[in-house]
Amino acid sequence: MRDKTTELIHHPYLPPLGFTAPQPGVFKASTVIFPNVAAMHSRDWRQKAGYTYGLHGTPTTFTLEERLCTLEGGLQCVLASSGLSAIALVDMALLKTGDEMLIPNNVYGPSKALSEGELVAWGISHQLYGAMSPADLAARISNKTRLVWLEAPGSVTMEFPDLVEMVRICHARGVICALDNTWGAGLAFNAFDMRGEAVDISVQALTKYPSGGGDVLMGSIITRDEALHLRIKGTHMRMGVGVGANDVETVLRSLPSIALRYEAHDRSGRALAEWFQSRPEIVQVLHPALKASPGHEHWKAVCHTGQAAGLFSVVFHERYSVDQVNHFCDSLNLFKLGYSWGGPVSLVVPYNLAAMRGTTWPHKGVLVRFSMGLEAVADLQADLAQALDKA
Ligand SMILES: *Cc1c(COP(=O)(O)O)cnc(C)c1O
Repeated sequence: MRDKTTELIHHPYLPPLGFTAPQPGVFKASTVIFPNVAAMHSRDWRQKAGYTYGLHGTPTTFTLEERLCTLEGGLQCVLASSGLSAIALVDMALLKTGDEMLIPNNVYGPSKALSEGELVAWGISHQLYGAMSPADLAARISNKTRLVWLEAPGSVTMEFPDLVEMVRICHARGVICALDNTWGAGLAFNAFDMRGEAVDISVQALTKYPSGGGDVLMGSIITRDEALHLRIKGTHMRMGVGVGANDVETVLRSLPSIALRYEAHDRSGRALAEWFQSRPEIVQVLHPALKASPGHEHWKAVCHTGQAAGLFSVVFHERYSVDQVNHFCDSLNLFKLGYSWGGPVSLVVPYNLAAMRGTTWPHKGVLVRFSMGLEAVADLQADLAQALDKA
């Protein structure tokens, strides 16, 4: 007779198979148990045919990966611990000493910081190209260029680039191009079929719309080329990047409603962006669906669904000082001060563009970025109006 302690660990009861429910089960493991040594030796951690170690995949992570492939139109997916770690993994997988990477001048800030920090220290150079100039991108590609990052629209400044032409340029020069697809989320456009052109890699901060709650940090790297996927998956394995099963569960819980939420965020964003256009305090509203916003024609060409996420920025007239604009932000009640986006709570962040973009930024006034939550749009508009009166 075995001891109770042993029996509790090696318990003979197995629940019946075939449990089916709307939500997939949550499997947690570092150790994966093999039936025999032959299985232990033959299983390939790179393939989804079996399980080898928690870090390399569980039924829970495989399920999310496959659903994200469906969302984005990709074939393979790697999960990372944040959107930024997904970006970093792509950089590390594809670049070595002596290589160069090109990033747009409106790139997500921390991605630029990584280029200036670790990548430079490792002998990997980078150049910023004009996000709205395919000619500038083409001119900067050299025989050192191994990776081009695209982002649509630009973080904070919302310019929508000519993605189709830029992908065409990269491929004509044999350079891999990766898109930060967090804004599009796989819904506004298909990164793997933009009027016949396909990016090689699509990265998303699942932290945003796929999570939808402001409570999870995760990233994904989607590809359609097995060899490219295996390069990234190899680096992912060697760096030991993992995601928590409970976080994966949260994203799986949110994914079924992503399209509905995206549409709702978009509707409010567009209503408020249009409203801001009539306000005398504001010199420009930056939202790709607005005719006067930079790159509107490229947004229209690529986003067949006519969708545009729930983000926009406004530029205050230069007669408003930084302090006055900060006071406007502090006076908001429903819009909370905070980074990130994609959750139920509307958020606001003032940005000092002169410092971020230098002389490439045309405006003198302060920029404020809004991300729409799911509150009623009339309440959000009233909140903006009362805060503008206080500025
Ligand atoms: C938020 C964001 C990221 C990074 O995502 P984290 O999960 O916060 O690391 C990357 N790119 C864009 C465009 C983002 O908005």
